[in-house]
Amino acid sequence: MPQAMKNQWSNWSGFVTAQPRSLARPQDQEELTDLIKTAPGPIRIAGTGHSFTRLVQSEGTILSLDNFQGLIAHDPQKLQATVGAGIKIGPMTKLLHGIGQALPNMGDIDTQAFGGALATSTHGSGATLGAYPTLLEAIQITDGRGAVREFNRAAHPDAMSAISVSLGAFGAVTQVTIRNVADYRLRRRRWTEPVVGVLERFESVMTAQRSVEFFYIPFSGQAIMLTSEVTEAPVTRRPPNTDDEAVKTLRTLRNYLKRVPWLRHRLIGSAIGKLPPEDYVEAWLNVFPSERNVKFNEMEYHLPIEEGAKALRDIIALLEGRFPEVYFPIEVRVVAPDDNWLSPFYKRPSCSIAIHHGTPEDPLPFFAAAEPIFRKYGGRPHWGKMHNLAAKELSALYPRWNDAMEVRREMDPDNRFVSAYMAQLLGVDL
Ligand SMILES: Cc1cc2nc3c(=O)[nH]c(=O)nc-3n(C[C@H](O)[C@H](O)[C@H](O)COP(=O)(O)OP(=O)(O)OC[C@H]3O[C@@H](n4cnc5c(N)ncnc54)[C@H](O)[C@@H]3O)c2cc1C
Repeated sequence: MPQAMKNQWSNWSGFVTAQPRSLARPQDQEELTDLIKTAPGPIRIAGTGHSFTRLVQSEGTILSLDNFQGLIAHDPQKLQATVGAGIKIGPMTKLLHGIGQALPNMGDIDTQAFGGALATSTHGSGATLGAYPTLLEAIQITDGRGAVREFNRAAHPDAMSAISVSLGAFGAVTQVTIRNVADYRLRRRRWTEPVVGVLERFESVMTAQRSVEFFYIPFSGQAIMLTSEVTEAPVTRRPPNTDDEAVKTLRTLRNYLKRVPWLRHRLIGSAIGKLPPEDYVEAWLNVFPSERNVKFNEMEYHLPIEEGAKALRDIIALLEGRFPEVYFPIEVRVVAPDDNWLSPFYKRPSCSIAIHHGTPEDPLPFFAAAEPIFRKYGGRPHWGKMHNLAAKELSALYPRWNDAMEVRREMDPDNRFVSAYMAQLLGVDL
């Protein structure tokens, strides 16, 4: 195979590509240390490439921790487990379930590497439920000079606050210890209702149950509500997931009715209104994740919860007024505040609004028009989803930004993990 084809890397949506000089997959710690010391820079650690931003892109080395897997230890009393950070979330949930432990919450899919999900503060929905990094008790990380460093919340609270949402900028995270909860079952319900009413009672609706989220279907006026509560009830069957088919139908309707918005609205609104409700009980790991096979690009901002309804009204008006080509649903969630310095949920109860645009269509005009709305309401971007902010704007959004950057400099004094994109993001002079 010619060299030009050999080292191709691409993210999940295909929007970000790279052709690094080296694509490496170290077998063990010794090889990882050696690579960090000697591989062509910049070195970027890859999870499974589910980020939409250029976090993993590098012309030097893209390094996968696929060989750092598995359940390494667990403590049944403390409900803690130590796993290799390269493990995918799906297999990890099965291992945890097998030892009677559970993640308190999950995002929409379970195919990311856990190390990758931690690094960008991946989250699900629930007013009292934090993003994945809030579970971290301890981290083992190989720094920019190849040294293995270990940190834990009790002994190193500041380092843990700096590194928990790491963006792959502090080193290669090889092992993490997380604080779990006892295995549980969830009663999941789904129904539709007019979005106008949801927006009127936004905060009370979004905080009424353990986990509440909704999808607004463009040009429908309808919200598909999803809630889950812990239950002792016996397991019933989860209905087949039809999200992919539903998105394809929305695309077809867009194709035929783009120029007839009133008819599009009427047809989609009435079809969504007739969706049968869902109500089932399943183990936690079988409730949260779904398959996502129809590719899209995404922008998601995390706003103060009290701004959520206003921001969403403006985003819907923008989409339906100026971007009839958009057909993907808008996802709305809430996330608990936390103490991680680079967490977009740092010290504030948040509402997350995610907008999507199907591939291969150009998502940038819609996202560029939406971003000032998110910014106007004080939004912080999801690190793994498209945005146009750089260090100047980001540092103003994160009160402990300078402290985090000081820890980064100490962990990576030679800027081994700083690509051109990372330099712009973090304000590093190369
Ligand atoms: C279909 C789909 C659904 C999604 N659903 C959600 C959702 O519900 N909620 C949500 O919040 N996000 C969601 N995301 C975003 C996704 O969870 C994040 O972008 C996540 O970071 C991707 O994980 P990854 O393993 O693919 O990491 P990558 O995208 O490969 O890497 C992300 C970052 O992690 C760093 N990294 C990876 N592994 C390590 C390591 N071991 N040590 C140090 N740094 C590391 C990389 O350097 C990079 O900076 C979704 C994305 C897609 C495509």
